Amino acid sequence: MRILLSALLVAVGISPASAQGDIPAPASKLSRAEAVNGYMQPAIPRPEQEAAAAQKLAAFEERTGRKPNILLFIIDDMGWGDPGVYGGGGMIGAATPEIDRLAQEGLMLTSTYAQYTCTPTRAAVYTGRLPARTGLIRPILAGDDVKTNPWEGELSVAGLLSDAGYHTMLVGKWHVGEGEGMRPHDVGFDEFYGFYRAQKEYTQEVYPQRYPDLVLDEDKLERYRGIGADRDLVYGLKDGTTEVVEVIDSMEKMAEGDVMLREYTIERLGELAGGDKPFFLSHSFMKVHADNFPAEAFVGASASKYPFRDSVVEVDAHIGAIVARLEELGELENTFIFVTSDNGPQMDSWPDSGYTPFRGAKGTTWEGGVRVPGIAYWKGMIEPGRRSDGLFDLMDLFNTSLTLGGVSTDALPDDRYYDGIDQTSFLLLDDGKSRREHVYNWLGDQLAAMRMREYKAHLLVSLAQEKFLWIDMATVVPTGLAPWLFNLYVDPKEEYPVGHRMNAWTASLGAELKAHGATFRKFPPKDLGL
Ligand code: CA
Repeated sequence: MRILLSALLVAVGISPASAQGDIPAPASKLSRAEAVNGYMQPAIPRPEQEAAAAQKLAAFEERTGRKPNILLFIIDDMGWGDPGVYGGGGMIGAATPEIDRLAQEGLMLTSTYAQYTCTPTRAAVYTGRLPARTGLIRPILAGDDVKTNPWEGELSVAGLLSDAGYHTMLVGKWHVGEGEGMRPHDVGFDEFYGFYRAQKEYTQEVYPQRYPDLVLDEDKLERYRGIGADRDLVYGLKDGTTEVVEVIDSMEKMAEGDVMLREYTIERLGELAGGDKPFFLSHSFMKVHADNFPAEAFVGASASKYPFRDSVVEVDAHIGAIVARLEELGELENTFIFVTSDNGPQMDSWPDSGYTPFRGAKGTTWEGGVRVPGIAYWKGMIEPGRRSDGLFDLMDLFNTSLTLGGVSTDALPDDRYYDGIDQTSFLLLDDGKSRREHVYNWLGDQLAAMRMREYKAHLLVSLAQEKFLWIDMATVVPTGLAPWLFNLYVDPKEEYPVGHRMNAWTASLGAELKAHGATFRKFPPKDLGL
């Protein structure tokens, strides 16, 4: 096993070419997934379910005369356990009635997976491809010397839907490159209103209690700004128009960031509702990424009174306000909504951190780092009260959004590998089942773990050297002779490995990991020179 896994790790990144149209056989008997071509992630075939979903969508279009709107709410760093329906909410001093209601009146997914940090997840959602393939494994920052713009040649879901007649918008956080050619309005979004970076990158210039060595030192501040780090709320259009709406030069202004984003979305929804195009909107919150300062109206709004919890209450209220606006406009029944978070809680910033019942945190591929809330809501189209533990990777939003928008993934170019799976039928049918068999958890450019059914096999594990410091004081180590294998149904916290002594599938899981690694030989990842 050791040799097999080492061979896999060496294999990742090496590039002998082979015929790309070959249809690979399933890697093991454990897999229900089947490949339809050589360049897309194999999925569990459910032909009847897919036909029924296509019929349901066609009936919607016949009834309304148009394609559905698509609205993604991407919350930053919220833990799986933060919303009330996932076991948090009022129990941890921050009630989330609006998120809970969408879950209760829609489909609540309990096994939704993100990447281990912000940038990789957003890149994966928008491209449908693993960050290790695109090179978008971390934000491209001002001052970074990159050989290649990772977005060059990539197709974004926003661009594909825009070409298909959608108005595509990003309101809020981007964090997938801030140089020209990498901004949202350069890579497919028709319209951008938001921030290039994460909240902490704005607060660190204005929060003297936490960053006195920068904020109170004029020389360092000047040097820091010399890197080119912006501190702007930006408005951008596909035609190149790029304007600064507001300079974030105080904690008070950052505190109101999500209020400004909500107001913009609500205003634009009013204008778009009367228009002739459906919209694709990614409303991506700045909160609840550290450093959290709740907006003035939400200070002390949570039972806990902690800034993080107040910020959870704030985000929940903004979601409620935007959904209410859609309903007022008569667009709620025309809009597919998905609520999620881009990674697990960042425990390093505790108590400015979310909650997860699982092991690990943001920055790791333990369940605590990558398992996130996932709620699909569509009034009249998704049966209220549904629950599923079927696997869903946030990359599936790429394929699913394309299908909802009438863009066939069969027409995508075959010169690259796609990791997302079309989950339209899983989400829309009353008894829909997931088509995903595997979730791969990457740490930067290294394959660290895989979830398959209820099993999770680790090749590399993050070990915090101090409680909570999963990013700032952790080590990443390879596992030994066998992968660390957990059965998440009997051990959701990944504490008691079942290993080869208690599990018949160790060799099969190894073969599945190896097959995944082989896709990187066939389609070599980009080298950005980072
Ligand atoms: Ca994040």
